[in-house]
Amino acid sequence: MRGWSPPREESEKLFNQRPSARKQQLLYSSFATEIPRSYPASTKMASSFTRLISGRNTAVLLASLGAGTVASGFLLSENSSLAAEAKKKLYPPSSDFPDLRKHNNCMATALTPAIYAKLRDQVTPNNWTLDQCIQTGVDNPGHPFIKTVGCVAGDEESYEVFADLFDPVIKDRHNGYDPKTMTHPTDLDASKLTNGMFDENYVLSSRVRTGRSIRGLSLPPACSRAERREVERVAVTALAGLKGDLAGRYYSLGDMTEKEQQQLIDDHFLFDKPVSPLLTCAFMARDWPDARGIWHNNEKTFLIWINEEDHTRVISMEKGGNMKRVFERFCRGLKQVEHLIQERGWEFMWNKHLGYILTCPSNLGTGLRAGVHVRLPKLSKDSRFPKILDNLRLQKRGTGGVDTAATGDTFDISNNDRLGKSEVELVQLLVDGVNYLIECEKRLEKGQDIKVPAPIAQFRK
Ligand code: ADP
Ligand code: MG
Repeated sequence: MRGWSPPREESEKLFNQRPSARKQQLLYSSFATEIPRSYPASTKMASSFTRLISGRNTAVLLASLGAGTVASGFLLSENSSLAAEAKKKLYPPSSDFPDLRKHNNCMATALTPAIYAKLRDQVTPNNWTLDQCIQTGVDNPGHPFIKTVGCVAGDEESYEVFADLFDPVIKDRHNGYDPKTMTHPTDLDASKLTNGMFDENYVLSSRVRTGRSIRGLSLPPACSRAERREVERVAVTALAGLKGDLAGRYYSLGDMTEKEQQQLIDDHFLFDKPVSPLLTCAFMARDWPDARGIWHNNEKTFLIWINEEDHTRVISMEKGGNMKRVFERFCRGLKQVEHLIQERGWEFMWNKHLGYILTCPSNLGTGLRAGVHVRLPKLSKDSRFPKILDNLRLQKRGTGGVDTAATGDTFDISNNDRLGKSEVELVQLLVDGVNYLIECEKRLEKGQDIKVPAPIAQFRK
């Protein structure tokens, strides 16, 4: 089945509609295309089904589709969720509220008993629940190196149906960006970047990545095997159209030897194996390695990960400090990928408030993480280092990825923000910030003092 994929203006209109109206269209679209109209209808069953789910705001939508469709939907797909529904109703939301007393993530801060009570029994058109969104944050009270968000989306509509939770999480994670009132800018004009060539005595490699999700298919925490394979098919078919320096091929994880896979991971090209509890508790490692893989050009400077944390991750990287060239390739490649996807009748999830929609709320907006592996032996031992990074809106990771501690003097330094600022602004922020860090390193080498810069202005007052 072809996923539901309205053109962008259409999707914007839908997003701005009342949630119920939008959900109705989505529900109608999936029921109407999946359920054969000739399936024997049972009015009795339909009415008891409607009664059973009364109190859920989907009841009116389903009823509006007509008895035959409702009965068919009930028989084919709703049995198990109704049983779960009935079980839940035995217990009030207060007795289901998770114990978050030892937690330090954005979800735990935002989730109140009142919000939980309001949302516990809501479902998205793909039958995704609040409990499924927050499970990873419940099971992972904190992370040793970064403050996590603590919830994921199962589909595009999660951000709308569970907005009472996601909006404050987004506001917290994105420095006061208010998704209700603010709009997100996109700018993929790499020619605007200045000072994008780093001192290669310090910067060892440069990288820009983002994620993109294919509208109409559930996100990795929620997708079925069929949907995941469809993401792979849509992406790989489109990517075959890339030309010139971007031309390359797809390597399915299932077809790789263990050694080949490990080599790509060690060379920093491929995502790690899904051992992180952040991923496993968000249901993202199901069926591994089915329908996962990496597409890359011949030089391994333009890469696309398929079905890791997001449907796709688009990456431009190379050794050395030429961030300008890396960003130019990133923008050019990304625009071509979007064009190739659209040519085949699909499009990326996007709306004007949240920008590009991705699995983790921390990646909404641009989804962009521009980073370098940079050697800072003196500055990293200075007690002011964390404050300097914070004020410059930079994040520090180990060079093996988000779950690794920094070893030695080399760090992965990247922009911390993704939403409310454009791609050009964020890469410029990273460039200026890293140049500042290198200046500090050089001053410390000469025995001179360094200054903590003033914090970069944010949305938060
Ligand atoms: P992402 O946010 O892109 O998922 P991760 O922290 O999960 O990044 O790391 C994924 C992989 O990308 C790791 O192997 C990491 O070493 C590699 N990587 C990240 N930034 C850089 C960089 N600037 N240069 C080289 N490799 C990098
Ligand atoms: Mg990662």
